[in-house]
Amino acid sequence: MSSRKKLIAGNWKMNKTSADGMALAREIVVEVGKLNDVEVVLCPPFTALEAVAKEIDGSQVKLGAQNMHPEPNGAFTGEISAPMLRALFATHVILGHSERRAYFAETDAFINEKVIAGLKHQLRPILCVGETLAEREAGDTLKVVQTQLEGGLAGTNKDQAASLVIAYEPVWAIGTGKVATSEQAQEVHAFIRGLLAKLYTEPVAQRMRILYGGSMKPANAAELLAQRDIDGGLIGGASLEARSFVELIKIAA
Ligand code: PEP
Repeated sequence: MSSRKKLIAGNWKMNKTSADGMALAREIVVEVGKLNDVEVVLCPPFTALEAVAKEIDGSQVKLGAQNMHPEPNGAFTGEISAPMLRALFATHVILGHSERRAYFAETDAFINEKVIAGLKHQLRPILCVGETLAEREAGDTLKVVQTQLEGGLAGTNKDQAASLVIAYEPVWAIGTGKVATSEQAQEVHAFIRGLLAKLYTEPVAQRMRILYGGSMKPANAAELLAQRDIDGGLIGGASLEARSFVELIKIAA
C-alpha cells in the first residue's frame, strides 16, 4: 500500500448551470464532505465555480477549474486567468485535457505555459496526458505519453512537483465506455512515475499522485485503484450524478 492519499476529481465538462452545480455539490458534501482519507476535487464549468465554492465551504471538498489562460490578465477575449480562479477559491486546474488538445488545438508548449502560470499562482495543475487509439495500435503509447509529459512539465523543478498531479487518460477510453484494463493502465502509470523520477528524483516521484481517467465508474474503480501506481481518478460521466460519484469516492477512501 502506498502512503499517497487517493484523489478523486470530477470533471463536469460543459455540463451543469450554477443552480444544477449547487445541487450536485450539496449532495456530495452531505455524503462525503467530512471524509479525510480521500481528497475530492470538483471541477465545474467557470460559470458554476462561485456557486459551488459556496456549497463546499467548510467541507473537505476542493474546487478546480477545467482550463485557464497562462497570462494573468489582458486582451484575451473569452479567457479566464489563474488569479481569477484563485479569487474564487479554486485550488486545482485541469490542464491539457484531450478535448482541449483535440478541439482547441492546444500544444504541449501552450499547456506548459499554463502549468508554469498555475504553479506561480498557487494552483495545483492536473496535467492530462494520453494516447489516441491509432497511437496505441501503432505501438506509440509510451512515446506519446513521454512527449506530452516532458513537454507539459518543461521548466518545473522538484520543489514544485509536490503541487502537481498527473492524469493518464487514454483518449480512446474517455466518454466511450471502453475502460483500459488495470494492467494497461498500471503499465503506463509505472512508466509515468519512472519519468517523474528522472525529472524530479525517485522520492519526489513516489509522493506524486497519478490519476487514471477514462470511463471510470463504480463497477471498474476498485480494480483500477488497487494498482500500485494508480492514485485516484479523473472522472467525467460518472461525476455528473451524485450517486455514482459518491460511490467512487467511497471506493477510493
Ligand atoms: C474525462 O473527461 O476526463 C473523463 C475521464 O471522462 P469519462 O469519465 O466520461 O470517460
